Amino acid sequence: MPVDPVCGIEMDESLAVSYDYEDKKYFFCCNGCRRIFKKKPKKWAKKA
Ligand SMILES: [Zn+2]
Repeated sequence: MPVDPVCGIEMDESLAVSYDYEDKKYFFCCNGCRRIFKKKPKKWAKKA
């Protein structure tokens, strides 16, 4: 199951919000977390 790199929550892929960054797909529990990721993708991508 994908893990939200921002809040660390594990979620079902069908319920997740996805975002492509540098040829990698990231999944988020909600649009709020995706927005946070988009602000500082470098910081969060490292944690993923
Ligand atoms: Zn989240």
